[in-house]
Order: sequence, then structure tokens, then C-alpha cells
Amino acid sequence: MRLGVETPDLLVDVTRLPYERIEATEAGGLRIGAAVRNSDLAADRRVRARYPALAEALLAGASGQLRNVATTGGNLLQRTRCAYFQDVTKPCNKRDPGSGCPAREGEHRNLAIIGHSEHCVATHPSDMAVALAAFDASVRVVGPRGEREIPFVEFHRLPGDTPQYDTVLERDELIVAVDLPALTLAPNSTYRKVRERASFSFALVSVAAALDVVDGEVRDARVAFGGLAHKPWRAYAAEEALRGSAAGEDVFTRAADAELMRAESLRDNGYKVELARTVLVRTLVELAG
Ligand SMILES: Cc1cc2nc3c(=O)[nH]c(=O)nc-3n(C[C@H](O)[C@H](O)[C@H](O)COP(=O)(O)OP(=O)(O)OC[C@H]3O[C@@H](n4cnc5c(N)ncnc54)[C@H](O)[C@@H]3O)c2cc1C
Ligand code: SF4
Repeated sequence: MRLGVETPDLLVDVTRLPYERIEATEAGGLRIGAAVRNSDLAADRRVRARYPALAEALLAGASGQLRNVATTGGNLLQRTRCAYFQDVTKPCNKRDPGSGCPAREGEHRNLAIIGHSEHCVATHPSDMAVALAAFDASVRVVGPRGEREIPFVEFHRLPGDTPQYDTVLERDELIVAVDLPALTLAPNSTYRKVRERASFSFALVSVAAALDVVDGEVRDARVAFGGLAHKPWRAYAAEEALRGSAAGEDVFTRAADAELMRAESLRDNGYKVELARTVLVRTLVELAG
């Protein structure tokens, strides 16, 4: 709004709705209310012990002051930091559908290498969302037609030919909570973020990963990337390559390649492919060790 990208006639303050609790679910997971502050979620003992990648992702985002104010619902719905989207004097299909995408031929060093379209190559900026994608979370929303649950990996969209829509949330729906399932491998998880400076900066590439290794063999794995796509990118091909394999750098590299083989980098962001491979391999080595 400050940049003039959004010019609403009416603002509704949702921060005082009663969605600020983190509760245990009957299924053994956690329900995170939409109004829970990023700082409070990162500090929650259950989150730190059982889903450390989520706590680390939150602490890797923004600054202390921002995390004290930012909410779970708002963090998921923050919009891209693509420079053209934020500059209302420039064309941008996401802000003004049909006007074009100057980023494709212009400044796209920080933008997507996977899942993009000719209409938009933006990335999703949230760190928290990358961990939630890895952990099989779901988003609970409510609207005039009642409540529904959306698998987290389906909540954010790829741009296709309608990049103006970031998520599948309808205009009349409100996020009420995010559910985390009980996940036995989640305690052995971590979040690694590469950025241009140590704080207050969005990811060039990030990885949320969880690994279950028994007698040197990967029994189960969860991997998601940030900074690569229009949505948090769940790396199913990498997970598939990891399961049942001997834990080690060779296998981890093959798993990274299995995912990144579908990357289509642009003129100036091919470095992200190598960076994503390196970050994933180092993260898995750390978790396996
Ligand atoms: C300088 C700067 C650096 C940042 N760096 C990072 C970073 O590195 N990593 C990162 O992950 N984030 C980063 N952020 C984002 C920040 O962490 C906040 O998450 C983000 O600004 C959203 O804040 P908010 O919760 O106040 O949401 P708002 O800005 O209030 O809301 C965002 C959107 O969500 C909608 N919304 C909010 N709650 C709901 C709900 N319950 N249901 C439906 N719609 C809802 C609002 O209407 C609005 O459209 C940064 C922000 C700034 C300003
Ligand atoms: S990448 Fe997307 S957000 Fe950026 S200019 Fe192109 S259409 Fe707009």
C-alpha cells in the first residue's frame, strides 16, 4: 500500500480476531492460529523441539521488530519483491494483467528458475512457508461457504497465464489457522538460507529439510526450496531419490540433481541452480551427520 501497489477503499483490521493461539491437535500435531506473531511462533518450545526448521525459518526472516508484528496469515500472503511489481510506473502482469513482464529480459537475478511462465518469473518471498511446505502442513480457511482445509503445497500457485493470483484463497475467505501434522522425522530438520547480507534480506536460495537415517540408509526425507519459484517448492523428486538410498554426499548430490534438472534459468540467474545444489547437499550432510 505504501508503494501504491494496492489502493483499497476499505481496510478491515483482522489482527484482533481470536486466532492467536498455538494448540495441540488430537492427531498429535499443532494448530497455529492465523494471528500468531512470527516471534511467538519461533519461540514456542514445541515448535523449536519438534519442528526446528520452522523456528529457524522464522528467525531467518525480516528483522526482530518486523517479526514481533508479522502474523502467520500475513506472512503467507506477502507479495513478491520483484522490483517491477513494486514500481507502479512499470508494466507488470502481476500488478496489471496483460501489461507485460519486463523482468524476463530485464532485472531477474533474484527471480525464479523453476515453474515460471512467459507471463511471470517472480519468486515467493516467505521463509516460514518453505518449512511449512516441507512439513505437509495445511491451511484452514473460512468464508461464506463454510470452512475448508487446503494442503499447504496447493495453497500457493504457479504463475501460468494468471500471475495476478498468488494463492487459491478466494476473495471472501480468511485464513484462520495452519495445521502441522505429527511428523516423526521433523525433529531432525533444519533451514538454511543464502542471502546477500546476514539480516533483513530475502532468500536467493533457501532449503528446509528433514531426514530420517537408520543404519546409514535414508528411511524418509522432506525437502522444500525457497527463492526458486513463484511458490515454496516442495522437492518431491529429490525426496524420492533419497528414500532407501545410502546416506552420503553422492546420493545427496544425485537427489539435488533429480529436482534441479527441471530448472530453466534465465539470462542472469543460472547461478541459483548450482547454489541450490550446494545448499541442499550441505544441509543433508549436516542432518545425516
Ligand atoms: C523490510 C522487510 C523485510 C522482510 N524480510 C522478510 C524475510 O526475509 N522473510 C520473510 O519470510 N518475510 C519477510 N518480510 C515479511 C514480514 O515477515 C511479514 O510477514 C510480512 O510483511 C507480512 O506481515 P503481516 O503479518 O503484518 O501481514 P500484512 O502485511 O498485514 O498482510 C499481508 C496480506 O495478508 C492479508 N492477510 C493477513 N492476515 C490474513 C488472514 N488471516 N486471512 C486472509 N488474509 C490475511 C492482508 O490482507 C494482506 O493482503 C519482510 C518484510 C519487510 C517489510
Ligand atoms: S516477474 Fe511477475 S511480478 Fe515481476 S514484472 Fe514480471 S509479471 Fe511482474
